[in-house]
Amino acid sequence: MRGRAGTPREARRPLGLREDAPMGDDDSEAGVRATGGCECGGVRYRVEGALRDVVHCHCEPCRRITGHHMAATAASLDDVHFESDTTLAWYQRTPTTRYGFCTTCGSTLFWAASDKADMLSIAAGTIDQPSGLATVLAIYADEAADFHRLDGTIPTFGRDRPVDDPSWPVAGGGA
Ligand SMILES: [Zn+2]
Ligand SMILES: [Zn+2]
Repeated sequence: MRGRAGTPREARRPLGLREDAPMGDDDSEAGVRATGGCECGGVRYRVEGALRDVVHCHCEPCRRITGHHMAATAASLDDVHFESDTTLAWYQRTPTTRYGFCTTCGSTLFWAASDKADMLSIAAGTIDQPSGLATVLAIYADEAADFHRLDGTIPTFGRDRPVDDPSWPVAGGGA
């Protein structure tokens, strides 16, 4: 839950990959869009490419695994580089989808699907602040917890986003 109210300006922005890194021009690691990791530091990664804006997935698996809902950005798998992955493990939930988590601290980190194997969804809360991202979409709202207050300022779908939605630049929906 964001600390400030969502604005129509953010809601209207197209669902683009964001290159506008919040880091300054003097950043010595040129090309690094974001860094992040789990709570204990056993998993640390950097993204050297665009990040998608944040999608809330309220499906039941995401709800249980995260304890609330998945708030995920995404990047091309080729752009994600691990500085440490010694405690990274994967929960293969279905034959085609899996969640990445830290075996030490339990942080939810990633979601991946084999039908879009070139992309990696990243739990947005694991990105070091400021992320420069905005929440732009909610899916599987029909499965949202009854205590969750859905954000009426962003497009919200009861189930997955329609596959023919032209505003979506990343192949496939999902978290
Ligand atoms: Zn950890
Ligand atoms: Zn989900």
